[in-house]
Amino acid sequence: MTANPFETAKAQLEQAAQIAKLDADKVAQLKTPDRYTEVSIPVKMDNGSQKIFTGFRSQHNNARGPYKGGIRYHQQVNLDEVRALSFWMSFKNAVVNVPFGGGKGGIIVNPKELSAGELERLSRGYVRKLYRLFGPEFDVPAPDVNTNGQIMGWMLDEFEKQTGTKAPATFTGKSLDNGGSQGREEATGFGGVYVFEEVVKQKVVDLPKGASIAIQGFGNVATFFAQASEKLGYKVVALSDSKGGIYNPEGLAYEKVLAHKKATGALNGFPGAKNISNTEILELPVSVLVPAALENVLTGDNASKIKAKLIVEMANGPTTPAADMVFESKKIVVIPDILANSGGVCTSYFEWYQNMKHEVWSKEQVLEKLSKQIKQAFADTLSRQQKYSTTFRNAAYILAAERIIEAMK
Ligand code: NAD
Repeated sequence: MTANPFETAKAQLEQAAQIAKLDADKVAQLKTPDRYTEVSIPVKMDNGSQKIFTGFRSQHNNARGPYKGGIRYHQQVNLDEVRALSFWMSFKNAVVNVPFGGGKGGIIVNPKELSAGELERLSRGYVRKLYRLFGPEFDVPAPDVNTNGQIMGWMLDEFEKQTGTKAPATFTGKSLDNGGSQGREEATGFGGVYVFEEVVKQKVVDLPKGASIAIQGFGNVATFFAQASEKLGYKVVALSDSKGGIYNPEGLAYEKVLAHKKATGALNGFPGAKNISNTEILELPVSVLVPAALENVLTGDNASKIKAKLIVEMANGPTTPAADMVFESKKIVVIPDILANSGGVCTSYFEWYQNMKHEVWSKEQVLEKLSKQIKQAFADTLSRQQKYSTTFRNAAYILAAERIIEAMK
């Protein structure tokens, strides 16, 4: 059975609360979002018929700043998932210390089945139902799975039409010519590698020079993680996408894999590499494992087969609590999602800030600020990890909860 993500989120907080003896009333408050909303969105389809879609927005906590988090388009979106993701956003924003709370939204839809016109009408319909909840000082959505800068552009335009304002900071993840930020594309993958660098530097895990890395996924996050880690001299030996993966213990040159995927539409069949499944990629004899695709891939069923010494969670929620227990007993270090992949939202904050102040920063400026901010987040997490002799997940939760509870008080 797959773990209910909202139950997982609450269990993670509870564990941290007990270790650090956090204020029980405030912890109870954090286990429920401030507000969640379900809306029905009627959309005129190209063939003249009308279809009703279901959309959600969960606003978890805004003690530290406006609610902030993406909007996901997927056929499996549901309220528990959206609530859990909004919860994780509050904690992620607190770990990386940006002045935002947590929010998340979604629509039950397979966007690949819609025409561009239908997708635009659906996106605008979502905003028409929810625009009163949005705004630069109130709730700032962004892209998530299957949404992008174009969709944010439609949503912003609809928001501005409905409210009669010019308010680009209401949405982040916009395209560059529509108020987006330089460096946002690279931010999550590079941010993960900045954290990884610190893990090695602080000797949290002893890795040989040129240590091997397996990355599940080959999307935005995975490709920039591969690029940056390769540049540091690590050996990316396995990569995968939804159709399967490839493995070569001698290393895969990421640029060549990218070209192969462009030419053939898949990773499978990459010269010199063995085709592997998305299950096998997790269990390879590598030093570092980077889940960068889906949630719930490391479970009680496969945790004992994981051979990596270090897991860097770039996907949201890839590890279930049952797997966490196994990793702790096997002394496998897990750098949790709310720290490892916080580079994305950190740069969304930079985008929001630039919009609010009418500034435009260069890519170098953005990446330098990101590196500084996320490395500080790692140092703050490490101090809790050492203070409580606990896992990095518990330490990150303790750090975030301390910050949120302080603001609530
Ligand atoms: P993406 O859509 O660009 O890439 C997703 C990748 O996962 C693709 O390579 C896809 O082929 C692969 N995939 C899909 N189904 C799979 C399956 N069954 N098995 C293995 N691989 C599969 O998405 P992304 O932006 O790279 O996001 C990846 C993960 O990182 C998600 O969990 C997302 O929530 C998380 N994340 C992303 C960001 C960001 O800024 N993009 C920020 C924080 C967290």
